[in-house]
Amino acid sequence: MAIEIKVPTLGESVTSATVGKWLRQPGDAVAADDPIVELETDKVSVEVPAPAAGVLESHVVKEGDEVEVGAVLAMLDAGAKGGRTASKPAPAAEKKAAPVPAAAPAAAARPVPVASEPPPAETDYDIVVIGAGPGGYICAIRAAQLGFKVACVEKRATLGGTCLNVGCIPSKALLHSSENFHAAGHEFAVHGVDIASVKLNLAQMQKRKAGIVEANVKGVEYLFKKNGITWLKGEGKVQGTGRLTVAGKPVTAKHIVIASGSDSAALKGVDVDEKVIVTSTGALELSAVPKRLVVIGGGVIGLELGSVWHRLGSEVTVVEFLDRLVPGTDNEVEAAFRKILVKQGLQLKLGHKVTKAEKTGTGVVLTVEPSKGGTPETIEADVVLLAIGRTAASEGLGLDAAGIALDNRGRIEVDEHYATSVPGIYAIGDVIKGPMLAHKAEEEGVAVAELLAGQAGHVNYDAIPGVVYTWPELATVGFTEEQLKEKGVAYKVGKFPFMANGRARALGMTDGFVKVIADATTDRVLGVHILGPAAGELIAECTMAIEFGASSEDIGRVCHAHPTLSEAVKEAALGVNGMSLNI
Ligand SMILES: Cc1cc2nc3c(=O)[nH]c(=O)nc-3n(C[C@H](O)[C@H](O)[C@H](O)COP(=O)(O)OP(=O)(O)OC[C@H]3O[C@@H](n4cnc5c(N)ncnc54)[C@H](O)[C@@H]3O)c2cc1C
Repeated sequence: MAIEIKVPTLGESVTSATVGKWLRQPGDAVAADDPIVELETDKVSVEVPAPAAGVLESHVVKEGDEVEVGAVLAMLDAGAKGGRTASKPAPAAEKKAAPVPAAAPAAAARPVPVASEPPPAETDYDIVVIGAGPGGYICAIRAAQLGFKVACVEKRATLGGTCLNVGCIPSKALLHSSENFHAAGHEFAVHGVDIASVKLNLAQMQKRKAGIVEANVKGVEYLFKKNGITWLKGEGKVQGTGRLTVAGKPVTAKHIVIASGSDSAALKGVDVDEKVIVTSTGALELSAVPKRLVVIGGGVIGLELGSVWHRLGSEVTVVEFLDRLVPGTDNEVEAAFRKILVKQGLQLKLGHKVTKAEKTGTGVVLTVEPSKGGTPETIEADVVLLAIGRTAASEGLGLDAAGIALDNRGRIEVDEHYATSVPGIYAIGDVIKGPMLAHKAEEEGVAVAELLAGQAGHVNYDAIPGVVYTWPELATVGFTEEQLKEKGVAYKVGKFPFMANGRARALGMTDGFVKVIADATTDRVLGVHILGPAAGELIAECTMAIEFGASSEDIGRVCHAHPTLSEAVKEAALGVNGMSLNI
């Protein structure tokens, strides 16, 4: 299998090096860790080792070339037998070349690894992935497809991570059930469907959700079996290049991929008990509808779960530090979204922060004050949902001892190929920078597996959609108007309201609009923001347009089926150049 030999991390502020002498030639047989090439910087001289045994296929750069950290130096046919026996390079003493340490910290300020054992010559697996969430399990599957011997470590009793167990899937199950309950009570009559009385059976709703979760997590187990992936049960701890422990037992691997995900962020003064003060995990499990639910945090998770319980009968108040909801959303779209949520009955307390949560015998008293300072007040709640964001799950993995560098938010630092500061160890998903989204983690899982196989794995971070599954849904991809203004990019906007879309009218779902933003000169689509029915589905077309570098005219000239909600996307795209037809 062809793999790339790349310029390793060379130290703080060192971004490039000069290629020195080639120590192995194409056709040479190499053992793992054999020195392949010398690199010179103004600070150090290093030898780059072979990441695996095999036959050196080709040099990608020449002696004297300037190369960036992460650049490909040579291709190795890993595992290949045969090849020439190379003559030994000149003795290192003469050259003062220091071998790249097995677990070299990338920056001076980074932790010094205590794991100094050399990488194992023979390993149990080609790749071990730590964490079986959407990042980890998809990485494991792709790696197995590419011919690697793969294991995935998971400490939870079931596979699927946050997403399948306590995140995306159970929340969407409850969102759909609560939508049905609300529609039966408030919307069916308009359609001529009279129901004498609508009664909530919350136990059945929760049972349905649990069944959906079980089917999904069992599905991942099936996929592991189908692809020959070993599930190593227990907690994984990294020891250094090629080494880890699982439930205390040593395991070796050529490559380790950390996909440990994230946990709910804590807030000082608010102690979670998962009964009356809950995170999203507890909010998915409530066995009774709270009369008064206070949600701390007006982000995606708070609004989705706040909507669920609001539809089921709770009075919901959302306390948000900022003067707006869902930070990062296009301002115009957020303002319209907020108006609709308020019309639905959600109470918003924006520009406020919670400083204390005191449990009484019957509920919780929250102390709340203006974010910018001012007079505190109290709010009473039966249940409080703490949803102020999520933090990278980087503790308990032995990262410090292994010398793996973290950023100032506790996320694992990686280069553009997901390599951490320790050779042979990679990280993806919620535990690294970027949006904490299941599909972003999945894309990174595929990319790192392909990179390890010597392919061109890549994620386009300008084309990652984000969806809020409230009613109506809010879906967005690409840049907002505010971001483009900040970047100084001239743009044009086309908008189309669902009120003017035939299918939306037939469905009785006319709230919201589509907004397409395109480059003023080239017409290339730069961002699309959709507030409305099925926005989460409609955004796929727009993401593909951005991925393929389409213009707004391209979308506008594609034939869309009638009557569909997707015609609103076409019309908004036509609107960029003043060509909308149905308004
Ligand atoms: C309520 C809620 C709703 C969400 N809804 C959506 C949504 O609709 N769409 C969306 O895109 N995203 C959603 N998300 C976010 C999404 O769940 C995450 O972005 C995604 O799960 C991240 O995937 P991951 O693989 O990086 O990590 P995770 O899914 O968090 O998986 C990490 C796994 O690693 C395991 N692990 C950690 N450390 C170790 C160790 N040392 N040893 C062994 N195992 C370990 C954990 O047990 C866990 O199973 C939601 C999240 C929540 C909480």
